[in-house]
Amino acid sequence: MTEIFFSDLTLSDPVMSALEEMGYEHPTPVQASAIPMAATGRDLLVQSQTGTGKTAAFCIPLIESLDSGKGIGALMLCPTRELAKPVADEFDRLGKFKNMRSVAIYGGASMDKQIAEMRFARVAVGTPGRVLDHLRRKTLRLDDLKALVLDEADEMLSRGFAEELHNIMRFVPDERQTLLFSATIPEDIKRYAKRYMKEPEFLSLIEQNVAADDVT
Ligand code: AMP
Repeated sequence: MTEIFFSDLTLSDPVMSALEEMGYEHPTPVQASAIPMAATGRDLLVQSQTGTGKTAAFCIPLIESLDSGKGIGALMLCPTRELAKPVADEFDRLGKFKNMRSVAIYGGASMDKQIAEMRFARVAVGTPGRVLDHLRRKTLRLDDLKALVLDEADEMLSRGFAEELHNIMRFVPDERQTLLFSATIPEDIKRYAKRYMKEPEFLSLIEQNVAADDVT
């Protein structure tokens, strides 16, 4: 297999500097496929397991496509607070040289602190319940949203977040890019994709089954 470097993916200097600082040299298979594809602006449905580097696969395109304006430009939904926190941290590390920060919004933590942090954040990462809470209280506004990411979408649906997800969609502008990552593609994910995504490109990285741990 030919070795691919991040420098082959035509990324901006701020992102390349962040990758260098993080010690990421070679994109994992999901990164090598999803990053250029997401850059075209298309919706993506990616079948990929945890530990494959999928967090950077969706964070990098968001950092590249968002300008340094104000407001929440992207929303990333995760099934649990334990999953949301590392996504927010990875986004902050990758966005460091573009001065882009995330806010993590999940239940069991102070609403006020999250509201204060939202003022400085370009993206929000959260669990469906708390995100919906903020949307209903208008403490989170998605008027400027350019992209929506669903991480571990099958987990979100199997944890009973289907109703929250559908309610969140009412607050999301129609004109946006949607990136959906899921380890499995059951019927309810297909239905979601059909209803809320625009002719998504399907990428399956399951066959190769290469985890980031295998990348030196
Ligand atoms: P994820 O699947 O996004 O949770 O990533 C799994 C682990 O792989 C995390 O600890 C990442 O920091 C790490 N990782 C992701 N992409 C790369 C890469 N291209 N090179 C080295 N490590 C990576």
